[in-house]
Amino acid sequence: MTDNSRLTRTSVSNVLVIGSGAAAGLRASIAAHEAGSEVVVVGTRPRKDAHTVLAAGGINAALGTRDPEDSWQQHFADTLKEGYNLSDPRVVEIMAREAPRAVEELAGWGAPFARTPSGDLDQRFFGAHKYRRTCYAGDYTGRAMLFALVDKVESLGIPIHEGQYVSKLLVHDGRCFGAYAFDIHSGERTVYLADAVVLATGGHTRLWRVSSSRRDENTGSGMHLALEAGCRLSDMELVQFHPTGMVYPEEWVGTLATEAIRGEGGRLYNGSGERYMERYDPERMELSTRDRIALANYTEIAEGRGSEHGGVYLDISHRPKKYILEKLPRMYRQFLEATMLDISKGPMEVAPTAHYTMGGIVVEPETHATGVEGLYAAGETTSGLHGANRLGGNSLSETMVFGRRAGEAAARFSGEVDAQLRDRAAIREVAEEVDSYIKEGEEFARPLQRALRNTMQETCGVVRSEEGLNEGLRRLAQIREASDDVDVRPTSEGFNDLAYALDLRGSLVVAEATILGAIERRETRGAHNRSDYPELDPDMKVNFVVEKGGDGLVVTEEPVHTVPEYLEEWAKADEEYGVTGRLVE
Ligand SMILES: Cc1cc2nc3c(=O)[nH]c(=O)nc-3n(C[C@H](O)[C@H](O)[C@H](O)COP(=O)(O)OP(=O)(O)OC[C@H]3O[C@@H](n4cnc5c(N)ncnc54)[C@H](O)[C@@H]3O)c2cc1C
Repeated sequence: MTDNSRLTRTSVSNVLVIGSGAAAGLRASIAAHEAGSEVVVVGTRPRKDAHTVLAAGGINAALGTRDPEDSWQQHFADTLKEGYNLSDPRVVEIMAREAPRAVEELAGWGAPFARTPSGDLDQRFFGAHKYRRTCYAGDYTGRAMLFALVDKVESLGIPIHEGQYVSKLLVHDGRCFGAYAFDIHSGERTVYLADAVVLATGGHTRLWRVSSSRRDENTGSGMHLALEAGCRLSDMELVQFHPTGMVYPEEWVGTLATEAIRGEGGRLYNGSGERYMERYDPERMELSTRDRIALANYTEIAEGRGSEHGGVYLDISHRPKKYILEKLPRMYRQFLEATMLDISKGPMEVAPTAHYTMGGIVVEPETHATGVEGLYAAGETTSGLHGANRLGGNSLSETMVFGRRAGEAAARFSGEVDAQLRDRAAIREVAEEVDSYIKEGEEFARPLQRALRNTMQETCGVVRSEEGLNEGLRRLAQIREASDDVDVRPTSEGFNDLAYALDLRGSLVVAEATILGAIERRETRGAHNRSDYPELDPDMKVNFVVEKGGDGLVVTEEPVHTVPEYLEEWAKADEEYGVTGRLVE
């Protein structure tokens, strides 16, 4: 019999935001609050330690501080072009238009962005931007933003419930009325009832063995929650591998060496001392796009021209130590702590690392409403902005711009609701589902999560092929079978095992969605390199959409939205740059 005494708490609000401490989640909660809603924010990590805290290099906005020629239209054009024309132009336009306001707002809330001597917000170069438009706080921009947002949220009295793991969204007749969560420390369950819900749950790049995210974050759980609720996912195969992650020691593998190092003049060399970007992108060199540099680094390593520990060399030691300490303080400390390397004296060793989910939940561009009534999404968990290659710095702009829009839309929806919805049968079913995971078993979630990460690394990495991807599907099926027998028992450490088991369940589905999309995209475009289809196929200017259907997942193809007439000239500038998907020899 079900132990319903576990349902110890019910929380009622107008708007529930899932993703505590997250940039998109916090921005959404502020917007919903300011629009008159009672808001509750939930998330698994402590508020000042959410994934956003890792963001280093900066946030983009066409302010024109350093380069007055810059404009939101140019930001639009750069984003569209470098996304290989797979972005939704409507989403790109909104981001580019509204990013300046978002950055000014953050600065007004106390985010300590760097300033020019005359007091304006300073801007640095990031790869493949035409102008300097990246605002920054040293190399800890995410932390600076997050802390300012947390202070703002706390000053408004918005409650943040930490340590909560959401296992399911509550849905009745196609309308979302809240979420079901448990406390990872005490196991206590909470039914969060709300008129509207905003998902700000981040991406899924921790599903690769080499990843720039930390343990138990970016596991794609929000995308799984959305799929289960009836949403659709798009572009899941488009995963950004950042070119420069650490390669040793083991516990640091994948940790990011920020793009700001290249922005500040860092140069890439192979094991023979050759500055090889001259062969891959002689014009932009180390400031080329991430997809090209990642492929270049991958190729140098795969063809035996790597560094001592299996990466390539990234060198900033030609800059004075004082300059490095001022511009890259975190990187300086990171390499010293991890490898005893003083980066002002010698080169770092780096290799591609899974970094950013360009696809995600399908949302309506203006409000970020999903296909499920009352459910909104914002930030890395959504699709639409980045196409096949995200420009560095655009993600933080996205979280701010669309976090605000989603929060406002959720509050508007709540304002129009006459009676709060509650479906006891749906809640009971979800509670029983969680109960069913607490049992003895022969398997453990951790090794299976590791097997999944190895599978994604080996079969769906920087370069993919039909054969490898099919092998990936076979291996996922084996892990899924083993996952039915996972042992979950509360320990003195809390209910983490339950969270691991549920994460594994979601990760398997999201990984499968990724591989299915990767199989369908029979071309090379942006971050998606197919060794068996090495050319860009102009007919594949489509988005692959995954949803639940029958017993599993179904993939369909949808055309990309057209560029509005008034932006056509800007979009055409793309062709001058000669967008190409060719694999570099
Ligand atoms: C090392 C690194 C450096 C980066 N640098 C930059 C940069 O310089 N510029 C830039 O633009 N972008 C950068 N990015 C990307 C950027 O940081 C992220 O895309 C962005 O922070 C995502 O914010 P978000 O609000 O969408 O989600 P996140 O910050 O990922 O937050 C997601 C939240 O959802 C919660 N959550 C997830 N699932 C559940 C669940 N089931 N139940 C409860 N809570 C859940 C998590 O606990 C977390 O709090 C970087 C990323 C990394 C990893």
